[in-house]
Amino acid sequence: MTEEQNNAGKNRPVVTSSERDKKVEEHIRGILEYLGEDPDREGLIGTPERIVRMWKEIFRGYDPQQKPKITVFKNGCDGIVYDDMIIDEGEFYSVCEHHMMPFFGRYWFAYIPNPNGRILGISKIGRVIDYCAAKLQIQERLVHEVVDMLAEALKDEEYPPLGIALVMKASHLCKEMRGVRKHGDMTSGCLTGAFKEDRYVRTEFLDLIKK
Ligand SMILES: [Zn+2]
Repeated sequence: MTEEQNNAGKNRPVVTSSERDKKVEEHIRGILEYLGEDPDREGLIGTPERIVRMWKEIFRGYDPQQKPKITVFKNGCDGIVYDDMIIDEGEFYSVCEHHMMPFFGRYWFAYIPNPNGRILGISKIGRVIDYCAAKLQIQERLVHEVVDMLAEALKDEEYPPLGIALVMKASHLCKEMRGVRKHGDMTSGCLTGAFKEDRYVRTEFLDLIKK
């Protein structure tokens, strides 16, 4: 009987962070053995510890303490009232929940502020994307989580944003390294407000993405 099974049903012992880490490092050693490796050979010394340290970074999306604070401003506070599409684009990295393999690519985020509503601090968009991507994900849910979090920050009972849009395009290593072994990006999107209802707004946004 393992220590773990032995403890099952008893009062849970107080587990410090490093005890938790050591337990997982033991599991990773087991996985290395399962793969046919000798976890004690020179090249693998420290690998379980390195993986645990890396996971803390790439899976920080499970830690509510690391949720980014989203700064919003009153539209017009700097003397300019924004009522056009504001676009941010960049890269993102995530891990697919079906195979625990990376998927990564580019995102395009756009919104149309309400002239009387709020505007986002532009650097916050990338931070929200990184946070939502830093856990086991599927691309379809990722776009919705990001839009929900940014919509919540822009929420204003009286003057909501006129529309929010996010498109993500990514390569999935679980598709490219195994199984069908086919290249080909997957695109997923979430469009709200004017981006959904107004064909001209949608076309303007999608044309900008194609460039
Ligand atoms: Zn997958």
